[in-house]
Amino acid sequence: MFRKILIANRGEIACRVMRTAHRLGAATVAVYSEADANAMHVAMADEAVLIGPPPVQESYLLMDRIIEAAKRTRAEAIHPGYGFLSENAAFAEACAAAGIVFIGPPASAIRAMGEKAAAKALMVAAQVPVVPGYHGDDQDDAVLTRAADDIGYPVLIKAVMGGGGKGMRQVNEAGKFAAALKGARREGLSSFGDDKVLVEKYLERPRHIEIQVFADQQGEVVHLFERDCSVQRRHQKVLEEAPAPGMSASMRRAMGDAAVAAAKAIGYVGAGTVEFIADVSADSNNGLSEDAFYFMEMNTRLQVEHPVTEMITGQDLVEWQLRVAAGEPLPLSQDELTINGHAVEARIYSENPQKKFLPATGTLHRLRSPAEGPHVRVDTGVREGDEVSMFYDPMIAKLIVWDRDRPSALRRLVDALERYEIAGVITNVNFLAAVAAHPAFADGDLETGFIDKYRDDLVPPPGPIPDLALALACLDLLLARQGNTAPADPHSPWGKVDGWRLNDRGHDELCFVGGDEAEIVVKVHYPGSGGFLLDLPGGEMPANGEIDDGGTLWADLDGLRVSAAVVHDGDKVTILSGGRAYRIERVDRMALRDVDIEAGGKVIAPLPGKIVQVQVEAGATVKKGDALLTLEAMKMEHTITAPRDAVIATIPFGAGEQVAEGAELVMFVAEGD
Ligand code: ADP
Repeated sequence: MFRKILIANRGEIACRVMRTAHRLGAATVAVYSEADANAMHVAMADEAVLIGPPPVQESYLLMDRIIEAAKRTRAEAIHPGYGFLSENAAFAEACAAAGIVFIGPPASAIRAMGEKAAAKALMVAAQVPVVPGYHGDDQDDAVLTRAADDIGYPVLIKAVMGGGGKGMRQVNEAGKFAAALKGARREGLSSFGDDKVLVEKYLERPRHIEIQVFADQQGEVVHLFERDCSVQRRHQKVLEEAPAPGMSASMRRAMGDAAVAAAKAIGYVGAGTVEFIADVSADSNNGLSEDAFYFMEMNTRLQVEHPVTEMITGQDLVEWQLRVAAGEPLPLSQDELTINGHAVEARIYSENPQKKFLPATGTLHRLRSPAEGPHVRVDTGVREGDEVSMFYDPMIAKLIVWDRDRPSALRRLVDALERYEIAGVITNVNFLAAVAAHPAFADGDLETGFIDKYRDDLVPPPGPIPDLALALACLDLLLARQGNTAPADPHSPWGKVDGWRLNDRGHDELCFVGGDEAEIVVKVHYPGSGGFLLDLPGGEMPANGEIDDGGTLWADLDGLRVSAAVVHDGDKVTILSGGRAYRIERVDRMALRDVDIEAGGKVIAPLPGKIVQVQVEAGATVKKGDALLTLEAMKMEHTITAPRDAVIATIPFGAGEQVAEGAELVMFVAEGD
């Protein structure tokens, strides 16, 4: 076994590899970009080497820098994780040339599978079934068009160097072929530097089923069964499970044999995944049929979803990788491998299901995972307070559950998802829970179009904020005002405790924006018996409670005890309760929205006071209504908002400074500059 290994990656996979390395007694070296100086993978490693600025082209993709780091720290081997340099044949060669073991397959095997068309030709020769189609060298428009006609529409055009769903075009009729071809070539060229394509039959009801293979340097090859990764959005996986629902023992054998043949055909070593597409138009076994699965591609690395295989086989695949790379034989033979129970992985992303799953960035103001144990595993590379930046993958964590059978595993998954508490970024947690609880998913009625097919159930349009969440938001605010707790952010209007007693008045009004509503006003009454009486959209609700030291709100809502985490981010608040996250914004009625505060490209102080918070920086682009700074005057806080869309030039004052009426608080960049 190696004494020291370097992990040429970041995030959860770097942490995952280090855990096994440490367990096996190997020291670890992390590499990191400037953006990751405080990242979890750096903290976990025994040593860490800075390799460059945040963009991956200037850090995590720099082969020479990484090899240099390995030499400097005397690491004997490099684990590439997934993504980045993991399927880069030149990197595998560069490692070998530097006398460092690349923990992965030989460069020749990476090259053989790197190009989709050549890989398909190799597979045909090895008698592995492939999707009917054209994968020749002749890229003439006429040749490709004729191939599409012969295959029969619909067809799929794929950039041969493609990956991650890029450079793919589905074409449903001959008239649209030429335009789609252009698009696939353009994307292939810009993303992968190659405009060569292949054309194949587009399967209308496919399932994505892949086989985990492992080979040692002695020439032994085994498979560790299948994973079903049919639930995808934007052709990318979000939920994976093992074993595949409806898989018969004989089909498993046939697919396993095909995958082992594929690995043998290219002299494979280490962990690999052979991806198949199964046509599920048959009406038994959840559509699976032994003569309708086809080779799609082979990923010559460890996959994101490898933990589900680990959970059903009881093996540590990273340990297998390290042992094989060190020259040891495979730990188990095919006969010794068995499937135990069922595992599902959900990828928790910082993304917005409402907006076509577009990635979102932000700070993880709160990140609490469900408790880990024999049934629940969490693989993550971030901690509470960390940033989900624009530079890297927006995956927050992988949640993996295991149980005796699929229905029990799905129950575990829903329960674990409901225990997740994330605030600060929009996530797909509620969406994942909706998939896990969906009757069609429970039936194993899977196909890659699952999300689109059930979109209305899975991504419902935002409705009104439920009374329960509103009540929790009000209670949090009212309790903070009473001084029951010290808010984390002393400048937050949620935590304003500015001396005036609400109880002196008959009632008060709290105003919010959230859900699909522009303004929600909740009247608060103060019954003599204590607590509050909230006048919510659905009726009156007596409410009381307390906030504990851990920031958890314990509420009594008309006799119902509920707990919630309430996370503040300026005027925005996230209520996490009962497995759901509600984002609400407190509207500060004191905001000086209507006062004329702009004069000649400058925002001036409408009244004398003290600046308590500056919310923007020079250079920032603001929209009309965005908060610029908060001014405390006459024992009240006033939010100064942008009178129009603008770019900030300078802000002469900082928090804590006293300003006179008419002081120039913010200068805008002159239009046209
Ligand atoms: P990439 O390398 O870009 O990830 P793949 O070839 O692995 O591309 O395909 C990605 C996904 O596209 C598959 O998981 C599947 O959902 C879909 N797909 C690929 N080939 C076909 C096909 N012939 N018919 C229908 N869907 C396909």
